[in-house]
Amino acid sequence: MKYQKLAEFYEQASSTTKRLEKTEFLSKFLKELSERDVMYLLEGSIYPEYDERRIGISNQLAIKAISKSTGVEGKKVIHEWKKIGDLGKVAQKLIENKKQSTLFAKSILTTQKVLENLRKLPELEGKGTVGKKLSLITELLSSASPVEALYLVRTLIGDLRIGIQESTIRESLAKTFFKDKEDSSRKVQEAIDKANDLAIVFDACKKRSFKELEKISLEVGKPIKAMLAQKVLTIADGFKALGKPCAVEYKYDGFRLIIHKQGEEIKLFTRSLENVTKQFPEVVEYIKKYVLAKSCILDSEAVGFHKKTKEYQPFQSISQRIRRKYDIEKLQKELPVEINVFDIIYYNGKSKLEEPFEKRSKLLRKIIKNHPYKIIASKQIITGDGKRAKEFYKKALKDNQEGVMMKNLKAPYKPGRRVGNMLKIKPEERDLDLVITGAEYGKGKRSGWLSSFILSCKGKKPGEYLEIGKVGTGIKEKEEQGISFGELTKKLTPLIIKEKGKSVTIKPKIIVSVTYQEIQRSPNYNSGWALRFPRFTALRPDKPLSEIADLKEVERDFSRQKRNWQYG
Ligand code: AMP
Repeated sequence: MKYQKLAEFYEQASSTTKRLEKTEFLSKFLKELSERDVMYLLEGSIYPEYDERRIGISNQLAIKAISKSTGVEGKKVIHEWKKIGDLGKVAQKLIENKKQSTLFAKSILTTQKVLENLRKLPELEGKGTVGKKLSLITELLSSASPVEALYLVRTLIGDLRIGIQESTIRESLAKTFFKDKEDSSRKVQEAIDKANDLAIVFDACKKRSFKELEKISLEVGKPIKAMLAQKVLTIADGFKALGKPCAVEYKYDGFRLIIHKQGEEIKLFTRSLENVTKQFPEVVEYIKKYVLAKSCILDSEAVGFHKKTKEYQPFQSISQRIRRKYDIEKLQKELPVEINVFDIIYYNGKSKLEEPFEKRSKLLRKIIKNHPYKIIASKQIITGDGKRAKEFYKKALKDNQEGVMMKNLKAPYKPGRRVGNMLKIKPEERDLDLVITGAEYGKGKRSGWLSSFILSCKGKKPGEYLEIGKVGTGIKEKEEQGISFGELTKKLTPLIIKEKGKSVTIKPKIIVSVTYQEIQRSPNYNSGWALRFPRFTALRPDKPLSEIADLKEVERDFSRQKRNWQYG
């Protein structure tokens, strides 16, 4: 297929903010589509979401490639970038200029060629890598039309901005291949949940039969998205939403770990589908020894505890274990973790997604041999008694955990969805996960560092991030325990999109947890809200961008802070 055709679809999709219209455009496009791998390009990637191979091109390399393919000096490309603020548009403009000055051949780029070159990028290693990457990209850009260049560059730097979400793709598949027949949207979603691979779902949809969709099943070793929880304020609200009785469990303050076991082969994934098996060799051993299953997929929380006192530690104290690739053994001793298993979604060759939670919960309690400070089934009671539930909640807090989760006993497991069947309750509502979208260079002692960070929440439109406050507190000046200005500056510098004086705009990627004293209405930030006294508590490398707070959550927290409340 001509890449031009895909670029034209991207243009159409960007031309409207209405989801129905986007669905209509995508539906037309899908009707004529025959190459399954183009499904990945629709979301700006080259492989399914769970695959760890990423295009990973920095702005700097993209600038070099634009310069090389258009003959325009690098400095001028940067100048244009500062003016326009979108490298894709810069490429489009400069290629348009070149086209006018030279006799430009008709576009010859195909989606196949684009995928072929882009897929070579993550494979390159060692000496001469940068040069090889540059020539692969330049080859594409040199034969691109202006609009193709726009989307090529945006794909390269991982910022497609066409506002097509998984839900739009689901609706379009249901419309195109099942004419929106009853249940088709749900069936397509279930297939997406299990496959986590749009090309596989596309193939099945093309056969226009639900049977083909149902054939898609979970595979051990292939990460799936974790089910997400909604917030409620009190135990009473929890019972109101779920009915009685329900399960009440400790809400452990650690990070999510989804465990895949196939015989002796164990894989561990975070909630952003990152494979962290190598970082947790001791966990692999626990699973081999203490989980009685030939094959299974378990959902769990890894919690840190003090190596001597055995007291549970907050998430920040162990967050460095997620990313660290060296000194693993030392870290394992210094920062031990306990695995708290709270769900099972696959067992000995069969998916358990559709089974009610009470059955799944019983099954996992049968197959896990509890070994405190290694691996245990989550602490749980099943009750309809408010008083008992509140006692349990208090006990969880006393044990240094965050609060409790309340779960509907009859509910299935819904990957990737924020469902009303699983509710979280924490006493301190005043914390949010946000993304850094800007910063300012510091003065005096902090000069050379980015020292004040603009925080944003998700807006209403896909890909929209709205500012809600600035944080500088809670970050250390020295590289001791906790995160330092130096470290944050290092992480954020490659993500700078624009610079003006001391201020920089940053590509939304780095997610942080902050606490704050109050939310106020404010004309100073484009979200309409401002956090008073925000304080940085942790980097969240385990959370994907899709899971940061949205405007609704901010509004909810605002109205909640007005209500005075205590436990339950
Ligand atoms: P939050 O990160 O605030 O949205 O809270 C949801 C997270 O709590 C889940 O993604 C898990 O990582 C974590 N969690 C801790 N304990 C449990 C539990 N017993 N059941 C489910 N999730 C839990």
